[in-house]
Amino acid sequence: MMAQQKVWRDTNQERLSALRDANREKLNAKARAWTLANPENNRRKSKAWYDANRERSIARAKAWGRANPEKVRAGSKARRAANPEKVRAQKRAYHAANPAAKYGLNADIVQALIAAQNNLCPVCTKDLAPWPSTRTHVDHCHDTGKVRGILCHGCNSREGWVKRYGARLAEYLANPPAQELLELA
Ligand SMILES: [Zn+2]
Repeated sequence: MMAQQKVWRDTNQERLSALRDANREKLNAKARAWTLANPENNRRKSKAWYDANRERSIARAKAWGRANPEKVRAGSKARRAANPEKVRAQKRAYHAANPAAKYGLNADIVQALIAAQNNLCPVCTKDLAPWPSTRTHVDHCHDTGKVRGILCHGCNSREGWVKRYGARLAEYLANPPAQELLELA
């Protein structure tokens, strides 16, 4: 039976494709209805396609997002409204895993910056702890928001102090107050 059907199909290719063309709308509607009626099957197929075409799939989604910014915004808003806790948790997890995201940098760019600094803190010249680490910091200018470089924890945390008191420290070292008093004594 199957073999006979195949022979019939092979010898009636043209008739079949003409039939399909004539009923294109109907067939599309039927396929859509079947998809809607079989969501599990559809999800499985989509997932299989996604797994096999991950790069292409991501590129496609990005292109769609660029072409439909309002839809992306509306979708995010709807997701936030429907699952506020879940969205907040996802955001927290993302920022924990990508601590440079708030500076508009991804992990690849941070790694490239670290490599360009030969894995060293440019101020104290000590080795930087491998990124991501709480010992390694993306340093940015608080006035312009621009990223300046990658600093070790010690230098990053002292930078504000130096900016505030550095000039006074230089003044103190040049004119130590005790010296004057002790010389008078
Ligand atoms: Zn340092």
